[in-house]
Amino acid sequence: LGLKIVPLKCCGKVREMETQERILQKPLIDFHGIDEELVQKMVYDALVWSSLHGLVVGDKSVQRSGKVPGVGLVHAPFALLPMAFPESHWNLACEVAPIFNELIDRVSLDGKFLQDALSRTKKVDAFTSGLLDIHSKMLEINKKEEIRLGLHRSDYMLDEQTKLLLQIELNTISASFPGLGCRVSELHRVYRVSCATEFTVVKSNIGTCTPEAGSLLNYHGEHIGLDPRRIPGNTSVDKFAEALAKAWTEYNRPRALVMVVVQPEERNMYDQHWLCAALKDRYPFNMQSKIDKEGEILPDGTLLVGGQEISVVYFRAGYAPTDYPSEAEWRARLLMEQSSAVKCPSISYHLAGTKKIQQELAKPNMLERFLENKEDISKLQKCFAGLWSLEDSDIIKKAIERPELFVMKPQREGGGNNFYGDDVRTNLVRLQKEGTQEDAAYILMQRIFPAVSPTFLVREGICHKDHAISELGVYGAYLRNKEKVIVNEQCGYLMRTKVSSSNEGGVAAGFAVLDSIYLS
Ligand code: ADP
Ligand code: MG
Ligand code: MG
Repeated sequence: LGLKIVPLKCCGKVREMETQERILQKPLIDFHGIDEELVQKMVYDALVWSSLHGLVVGDKSVQRSGKVPGVGLVHAPFALLPMAFPESHWNLACEVAPIFNELIDRVSLDGKFLQDALSRTKKVDAFTSGLLDIHSKMLEINKKEEIRLGLHRSDYMLDEQTKLLLQIELNTISASFPGLGCRVSELHRVYRVSCATEFTVVKSNIGTCTPEAGSLLNYHGEHIGLDPRRIPGNTSVDKFAEALAKAWTEYNRPRALVMVVVQPEERNMYDQHWLCAALKDRYPFNMQSKIDKEGEILPDGTLLVGGQEISVVYFRAGYAPTDYPSEAEWRARLLMEQSSAVKCPSISYHLAGTKKIQQELAKPNMLERFLENKEDISKLQKCFAGLWSLEDSDIIKKAIERPELFVMKPQREGGGNNFYGDDVRTNLVRLQKEGTQEDAAYILMQRIFPAVSPTFLVREGICHKDHAISELGVYGAYLRNKEKVIVNEQCGYLMRTKVSSSNEGGVAAGFAVLDSIYLS
């Protein structure tokens, strides 16, 4: 294939990276040999399943679809079949989830570390500065968060050449898709035949289906030779609901509400509704999903919104500058932070999940500052890709020479903010020329090259066959009250698959689809 190998310094060790050409991963099934008619049948069945089982998002072509539930629904983009993923790497991603949870908690308690690590960024990035101001105020009043709740998602790509599972980032705020991710695993695994008529239709199409054996793989399984038992069960939505409920229990005020902070327009609202529904169905408390009323804090720290006490604030907004169009939103965030309500995340957890902190934690001997167990430390370190501050002039030089080997990232969340390829070079050269402090807004990261597989991607009812790469997200929940750790566990996963020609592209942006994994 004529691979060019370039040695890259990474956290003290040399790692070799493949460049341009990628090896095509052996697909799960024979994509060329697969019967076109069978694919069309599977697409049809999967589309019906998605519509019947709430694997849906708001349709951007319908104006009110982000505001009014039930208006303008379209199936969420999904992969027709699960993506092959090595069992050993899956086990590793599950194993490190509680360690990362613990790490975030420890880092969140070191206010000085957070402030110092982000001090240069603060000068050039108004958004991060706003978050740091809230954090400073909490340090000034010596605010203690006794009950701490984290609902995280750590994302990985499996580097094809080194076979290393490398962390892309760890999301500590608004980790999305715990709801829809479970649905996709179910679609791939358990195709529920929900009524007799449908069963008859299915039966007449295929002839061999029974309700028990009715999974998309099961009932096409004979034809495509895949075993649905190799798709791990996915419980993220139930586990997240359970962690939220336990936080409410710890807060111990039976009449208090769980409040979900959402964006005024949210086409991914059904993902959130799945979680709220899991809470409402199983636990005896109320939810409030809009703050259109003024909030206030009582002298004892109690947060009241519209006169009702709030026990837990769960943020599905507040991670992007656009979530703070005026001072009023910043004041609201500060008010919630000052209160005694459990914040998911607290400002410290939020900052601990920034890319700058990720880069700081990847420095040699840094994890030792927060964790004691040597094995745990070494497991996490193995997941760290090369990460650099832009103060490192050697790496800037390398990145200008070979920008395709790097990703340049600002302190932002939600996709679509990074630079790749020539844009890395252009921006680095510009920053060098300007000689300002703006470089502190970014970090550089080793670009990871996962294996490419042919995949069927289904979007807006149309199935496209394309070459794709995948990113595995593993959810983690952490809850503690003072010294007592109540929850610390891995809770399900999210596979996202995107066409390999796209640098980034989230699910909402239109490049990636929701997927599940097939252990190989
Ligand atoms: P965000 O918080 O906006 O999701 P990410 O760091 O996850 O930021 O980057 C967004 C996307 O960019 C990822 O989902 C992945 O597809 C791609 N990406 C990020 N970092 C890398 C990397 N080091 N190598 C390859 N792709 C990357
Ligand atoms: Mg993120
Ligand atoms: Mg991401």
